[in-house]
Amino acid sequence: MAEIPEKVPKKKKEERKRYYRKRVDFFRLLQKMKLWPSRKRILHGIKSIKIVGNQALITTHCNEKFTVYNSKNSRAARHLRNKWDMQICRACNIPSWKIEKFKSTRFSQSYGSNLAEKDSEE
Ligand SMILES: [Zn+2]
Repeated sequence: MAEIPEKVPKKKKEERKRYYRKRVDFFRLLQKMKLWPSRKRILHGIKSIKIVGNQALITTHCNEKFTVYNSKNSRAARHLRNKWDMQICRACNIPSWKIEKFKSTRFSQSYGSNLAEKDSEE
């Protein structure tokens, strides 16, 4: 009767709030967050982003594919910044730590990372 050790939750990497610049490049932000707020206010997980010029081909984990334009002022960009009430896509199965991280992300005019090239943690 082997005992299966209970999974120890990984230590939370970021409990502190993280700050990004309001003017952070939208695509970089998407690549970093890997989250996509749909028009219907459902938050999807991004499986892949393929950037071609000023457009990005996004594939979500629930296998939706669409093209977005690089705009800091787009609806989606504002969604990510303001975190309006959103549902979470169940098909995308976004891990809860990612949601928490998203919720603790703040945007500031004058403070925070602008996700320049050097910032590539993952
Ligand atoms: Zn989804």
